[in-house]
Amino acid sequence: MSESTTPSAGRADATVLKFGGTSVADAAALQRVAGVVHDAQRGTRPVVVVSALAGGTDALLAAADAAASGDPKLMLPQLDALLERHAEIARGLARPESAKGIGTVLARARAEIADLLERVAAEPEHQPALRDEIASYGERLSAALLTAVLLAADVPARYVDARHCLITDETHGRATPLPNTEQRTRAELAPLLDRRLVPVLGGYIGATLEGVTTTLGRGGSDYSAALVGAALAAREIQIWTDVSGVLSADPRVVPGARPIPSLSYAEAAELAYFGAKVLHPKTIQPAMERDIPVRICNSHAPGDPGTVVTARGEVRAGAVKAIAHKTGITVLQINSTRMLGAYGFLRGLFEVFERHQTVVDVVTTSEVSVSLTVDDAGSLPAIVAELQALGTVAVESGRAIVCVVGEGLRITPGIAARVFATIADINVSLISQGASRVNLTFVVEETRVREAVLRLHEALFERQGVDLGAAAAAEELAS
Ligand code: ASP
Ligand code: MG
Repeated sequence: MSESTTPSAGRADATVLKFGGTSVADAAALQRVAGVVHDAQRGTRPVVVVSALAGGTDALLAAADAAASGDPKLMLPQLDALLERHAEIARGLARPESAKGIGTVLARARAEIADLLERVAAEPEHQPALRDEIASYGERLSAALLTAVLLAADVPARYVDARHCLITDETHGRATPLPNTEQRTRAELAPLLDRRLVPVLGGYIGATLEGVTTTLGRGGSDYSAALVGAALAAREIQIWTDVSGVLSADPRVVPGARPIPSLSYAEAAELAYFGAKVLHPKTIQPAMERDIPVRICNSHAPGDPGTVVTARGEVRAGAVKAIAHKTGITVLQINSTRMLGAYGFLRGLFEVFERHQTVVDVVTTSEVSVSLTVDDAGSLPAIVAELQALGTVAVESGRAIVCVVGEGLRITPGIAARVFATIADINVSLISQGASRVNLTFVVEETRVREAVLRLHEALFERQGVDLGAAAAAEELAS
């Protein structure tokens, strides 16, 4: 296993294009992807990272679950349907000879998966590794299919087995990439890029140093794209999805929500908690360390600028970028005079949550009380019982978190006053201005959260005439 470093290791002209499951859901979607990759060749050297076809990973893991409960054949019809979707797309979009090749690959995959499912049932001790092996077919097959579709669209695509690039530890289902990933990825991809080929690899999957298949955790393809981008020192990492970037609010609550042109890594990280459409901070980490912009693009509207996430973002006085919210929150308030002047108290308190593997989100403290929020109330009765040893505990359910996000908050005096004046008649608790100073977070009753978010969006975006798209005047303020 030699780790060759190519001399031309940096690929500053490479761009990683990652397509999620919905971008490769069917033939029409794949054709759009082919168009995007084809056009991308004009200004850059594309490297394609692709997810399993929509629903593919779910189907594969459901089959593994059924096998683990003793029925390895239960889900075979669903898997056949998944494989047939690949075949049908290949017949529609690939050249006849590659469609035939894909047919052979699919037939082999069917036999291998069926065999793996039998092993899941027979060898419970190997289940985690076998599950990853089974799940990996989703991305391996979608990458093979996309390669064939790209070739038919005159893109010089080349399938790459992602397991030769992403080297991870042995934590199946949630593996952590090892530093070797960087050299391996360069060694695999740089020669292809030098030959003007377009590498196509599946996201989400990797392998241990011994070559055992692993996965990075659900939704891990974005992370794969960032790791590949970092390894190549790419110019940009593009996450192609079905929305035109990160929106200024949840469009189901705020019809006037609009795409945010640019975010800083810190803003994106704050927003990550609130919505699946936003990148996970872990995803951005490899890009952030290399200062590589991450752009969220819409494969249904490739011309839209989307949202670009960079180190600095765009810092303008008064600029609030988004108003995020999350319902289903429980607030716990712990009061204890023992806290006064005592050290170690908070540690004991948080250890309770740690023991019950419950994530705490917003925290505020005074001398004798701590208020905090959790969104997973599963272990609440046990947690409350333990906390009662530390003080009196009040539980308020049916709460919501509202988070106003923007680097501009740091440099805008009076913004908090404006926020709270806008919702003066709504009860607000647990106010917290994050340590990063790019967010102002607070809790309201769930029944009033829509109203709060709508009014804040109107006051901070619409009524002020702050046009996020073309704020030329506001731009001047920044400099
Ligand atoms: N296909 C994997 C999943 O569904 C990874 C991804 O799509 O990002 O979780
Ligand atoms: Mg995803």
